[in-house]
Amino acid sequence: MTSQLVFQLSGSCNNYPWGKKGKQSLAAQLCSQTPGTGFHIKDDEFYSEMWFGDYPDFPARKLDTGEPLAEVLQRNKEQLLGKKVIEKLGGQLPYLPKILSIAKALPLQLHPNKELAKKLHEKDPSNFTDPNHKPEIAVALSKFEVFAGFKPLEQIAPLFQLEPLRQFNPEQPDKWTDETLRTVTRNLLKSDFDTVKKVQTELAKIPRDKLGDAAYILDLLPRLQGQYGPEDAGSLVALLCMNFMVFNPGDAIWIPADGIHAYLSGDIVECMARSNNVLNTGFCPPGDRNNADLFVNTLTFKAHSRDDVYLPSQKSDKSKAGKTVVYKPPMSEFDMLKTDLSAGETEELTGSDGPGVMIVTSGNGVMHADGVRHQLKEGFIFFIAPGISIKLETQNGLQTHMAVV
Ligand SMILES: [Zn+2]
Repeated sequence: MTSQLVFQLSGSCNNYPWGKKGKQSLAAQLCSQTPGTGFHIKDDEFYSEMWFGDYPDFPARKLDTGEPLAEVLQRNKEQLLGKKVIEKLGGQLPYLPKILSIAKALPLQLHPNKELAKKLHEKDPSNFTDPNHKPEIAVALSKFEVFAGFKPLEQIAPLFQLEPLRQFNPEQPDKWTDETLRTVTRNLLKSDFDTVKKVQTELAKIPRDKLGDAAYILDLLPRLQGQYGPEDAGSLVALLCMNFMVFNPGDAIWIPADGIHAYLSGDIVECMARSNNVLNTGFCPPGDRNNADLFVNTLTFKAHSRDDVYLPSQKSDKSKAGKTVVYKPPMSEFDMLKTDLSAGETEELTGSDGPGVMIVTSGNGVMHADGVRHQLKEGFIFFIAPGISIKLETQNGLQTHMAVV
């Protein structure tokens, strides 16, 4: 028996050079579990991301027919997307879920807000493929290291009193505002390679005790230099100006539109509003960098401490057995549910106003949905139509992540 409202999907992997290699990549491991796709992991290939939304790059497909998810959804919008998504969220899957396996820093980046995205898309549609914003969340599946948002000004300003950094700083420490930080970020990003290299060399010689709580900079600097060389100004912006955080599985962050971020290492579930727009400025070849002035002028200073980017989980009111938490970013496109079941446990989740996309991130079990019993295995991905409740069972333990509207 099959259901047209709940069906299995296959995801697509990509191969950016920051991804983990071969079988070390969780993205590749999970992708390879879905049967019948012809995907096999090559030992010498980098596997950075698995995407499993309806976005045309790296699309999810309906497993039994091989059709792109977008085509299936467009044929039956009423039942598969529901009224709320058709009327208020663009009539497509309003979010894009991914698994990332990160071996080295992703480009230092921001995703433009709706207004700028629209302008960039009109001017340069081949580079800015969407008129939409792209706020995103990341839920850690392993230890996860990340640079995200700016530190509080009172932690940044004193660093720019140090000898090698004074040249970038127009203000006394007590006079810093967000506009000072914007200027300093611009000055760093627009410095020539020789200056950046010289500053990094001198920064590495500063005694630990002079840096206080920021002494971790001395540990991370050689690591970033090893990844992108000593001429990459991204290292200076990330280390001096941004929050550096180390998360455990289940911890999550939230990046608003225009928020600066660079993921450094780990395996994560990522979900974002449906868009692929990005401005890059560091941790990538110079040819891949967008205009530094455009980047700096777009920056938001909403996230100004670790607490501003940390996204706590809370008990989900869709859960009957209390084994599910929800991550609720302050945006309308999606929430993320995480269900953790020990051996022998069950969970029931009530239906949503919009479509759900669920991935089994570990373990195995069974899902009952729309009158059909589905086998669940690590890496399996399912589409669940609006209003459909699901029941999960496991004999050995099961973890799922599900994006819902
Ligand atoms: Zn991003």
